Amino acid sequence: MIQAQLKLRLNSKQDATLVGWLWNLTGVWNWAIRKIELDAKDKIYYSPKDFQNLLANHSEKMGIPSHTMQGIISTAHTGWKRCFKKIAKQPRRKGKHNRLASIPFPDPIKSPIGNHISIPGLGKVRFHRQELPEGKIKCGRIVKRASGWYLCLLIDAEPKRIERTGYGEIGIDPGFKSLLTTSEGEIIEHPRELEAGALRLAQAQRGHDKTLAARLQERIANRRKYRSHKLSRQLVAENTLIAFSADNHKGVAGKFGKSVSSSSHYQLRQMLSYKSPQSGTKYVEVASKFSTMTCSNCGAHSGPRGLSGLAVRQWRCKECGTLDDRDVHAARNTLHAALGRSVEVCYAQA
Ligand SMILES: [Zn+2]
Repeated sequence: MIQAQLKLRLNSKQDATLVGWLWNLTGVWNWAIRKIELDAKDKIYYSPKDFQNLLANHSEKMGIPSHTMQGIISTAHTGWKRCFKKIAKQPRRKGKHNRLASIPFPDPIKSPIGNHISIPGLGKVRFHRQELPEGKIKCGRIVKRASGWYLCLLIDAEPKRIERTGYGEIGIDPGFKSLLTTSEGEIIEHPRELEAGALRLAQAQRGHDKTLAARLQERIANRRKYRSHKLSRQLVAENTLIAFSADNHKGVAGKFGKSVSSSSHYQLRQMLSYKSPQSGTKYVEVASKFSTMTCSNCGAHSGPRGLSGLAVRQWRCKECGTLDDRDVHAARNTLHAALGRSVEVCYAQA
């Protein structure tokens, strides 16, 4: 499956229709969330089908495609189901501060002709011309962003294999000051443009310019995603084994304050874990307890410890005399663990 996204060029009527749908679907969503919550208190539970039938004829009255309405209702139902099973938080009601921004189209959509695509209930919609991968479009979702309306598609096609350029084995340690450190001793810095973007965003937020802030936020997210794609593609192409240190960073992040890095790391791990198998790279995440205080040369626990130890950038091993950067040690230890050359716990990412 491949995800693709088209930027839509709606006429004013289509724009108004979508705004109306979002308004009505917000009502449906909130009703569904509330209904399940209240009935659960009286020990009334619904199957997905029964729950959908409660609003059987409403989509026609609202002028919304029935499957779109069912899509919203079943998302609400699944949300509560996951919450009852204690695998997710309680689904939240939508409102001013937490707007509903996407409209589901659960049915297959016909491939576009030229720069037009037919969407149920909207008719032919123009989009900014763009190549789509060949394949059947399984379903779609219209999303409202600060920069306009987008159609996100799920296409039944094989993702392209990343062409191999090397056969390396690499350990990666995520950091706060720099984005990543690798076992090769390479330090990958935070992209500058993200930091500059964060500054402008803070300015817009202080000036209470909500539209500008939303646009900037979107741009930063896009750039981060682009960088993560580029970096993950490169890492997969160059290596047959990637070991990522999935340290328990949560405690540390609290001490250092929110940083641009945390979400980038999460995104990167996600991308590495789905891109690696496609291209024959093995990707593992290593839970490394002692990675920063273990000497990557001799294995002695001779490095700095605890939070105060994090301030120490470089240290010399008391046992073997190796002088190296703390993060490089950590990255190498992560690789050792993945290769089974140390006592650390290592588990493969499913
Ligand atoms: Zn040593």
